[in-house]
Amino acid sequence: MKYFSTRGYAARSEFCDVLLGGLAPDGGLYLPETIPAISEAELDAWRHLPYAKLAFEILSKFITDIPADDLRDICDRTYTADVYRHARAGEDPARIVPLRWLEPGKLGLLALSNGPTLAFKDMAMQLVGNLFEYVLDKRGETINILGSTSGDTGSAAEYAMRGKSRARVFMLSPHGKMSAFQRAQMYSLTDENIFNIAITGMFDDAQDIVKAVFNDAAFKARHRIGAVNSINWARQAAQVVYYFYGYFTATSSNSQQVAFCVPSGNFANIFAGHIARSMGLPIARLILATNENDVLDEFFRTGVYRPRKASETHVTSSPSMDISKASNFERFIFDLVGRNSETVAGLWKEIDAGGALDLSRTPFFARLPEFAFLSGKSTHADRLATIREVFERYGVMIDPHTADGMKVAWQHVASLPADVPLLVLETAQPAKFAETLREALGRDPEIPADLQGLEALPQRVEVMPPDAEAVKAFIAART
Ligand SMILES: *Cc1c(COP(=O)(O)O)cnc(C)c1O
Repeated sequence: MKYFSTRGYAARSEFCDVLLGGLAPDGGLYLPETIPAISEAELDAWRHLPYAKLAFEILSKFITDIPADDLRDICDRTYTADVYRHARAGEDPARIVPLRWLEPGKLGLLALSNGPTLAFKDMAMQLVGNLFEYVLDKRGETINILGSTSGDTGSAAEYAMRGKSRARVFMLSPHGKMSAFQRAQMYSLTDENIFNIAITGMFDDAQDIVKAVFNDAAFKARHRIGAVNSINWARQAAQVVYYFYGYFTATSSNSQQVAFCVPSGNFANIFAGHIARSMGLPIARLILATNENDVLDEFFRTGVYRPRKASETHVTSSPSMDISKASNFERFIFDLVGRNSETVAGLWKEIDAGGALDLSRTPFFARLPEFAFLSGKSTHADRLATIREVFERYGVMIDPHTADGMKVAWQHVASLPADVPLLVLETAQPAKFAETLREALGRDPEIPADLQGLEALPQRVEVMPPDAEAVKAFIAART
């Protein structure tokens, strides 16, 4: 499988180069040249596979430059009950992503948050950590990973890379904008290869700095800068797996369809659902949920994509979705405009100049229904009410992000055919957001035993202004 860029760069890269490279040289995002179509026979053969085996089958479609035995070994080491060890009462840890029915056969929660950092980012990042280690070892290289996080990417990347001798991590986070538990998870790490930088600004400021550093080709090459942000194709590929696994868990035959509702920010998680559907997985609907930062909901309703400025970004109680410029959205627009990189390059010239994208009166917007998306938004009051209602009705605690998803799922569930189960992706465990759980329920969420006391540990973080040059200097001094 070869890769090219959404904006036309066509050097036909292999997966391992894409893995280490992050953004394509023309500023676009890498995509596989073709989306592999899954046959009926494959769907049948995959239905009862354990998670790690299914991961191997799907990933080997996208990764053809790692020998099959090595890739199988990497999947087997990554997707274990030991790594995804935070299953809760009633969940089978061997399933890696257990499904909890709230309304049997109708409405369920697919738990993607049982990994080391209690958020769905671990699903892909643990694999990416092991892939990096494998490829760097083979090549005798090292890498300095630069990333930005609104809360969960950073810790997932750090827990995937900690202790790996060939990688350092420089992670930018918005100063004071994450939950106490999220801060503790990242800033309490003492591994020598982990550097936390708190930017006095919003997540989008941090993301802009990362982009600026990546656009400095000389600096990037000199300091061997790599990315594990959600633009990294390897993460998309890894996320495709749980859509298949969730589908197989929720259905009894491949003639059935399912719908997924996905709490969204950077459009990474739900884009993997779009890929799964493009491969032929019977997905009736992909329902996108945002919080008050509703740039994506607005697009799916109106055809206008209007990235907000950092100053227009709301700080909410579902902070990992406080994103106003969805870095993965370009990949979807590429498909929407008929996989035409010239069109995308033109459209993104506007976006990169701070403008908006208005497709409302184009044939592209008219095509949107083919892609089966629905959308909706949720507010702080909705989150609190939803957390309360799910707890009262089902005795299940959900986190604020999952609550955004559940609120929007309820809004659309009646429009689905009766035989189409709706799975809400649980993107984090409530333990990460105790403040909001207390506000909603007047009680604390359960903290997994091995993470109790985390917030009391000493923290290590460098606070810096939103200035790309300052961040470069910090990196240069340590690499
Ligand atoms: C990252 C994250 C999201 C948003 O996912 P995207 O892939 O950025 O759309 C939602 N919920 C949680 C808990 C997250 O960590």
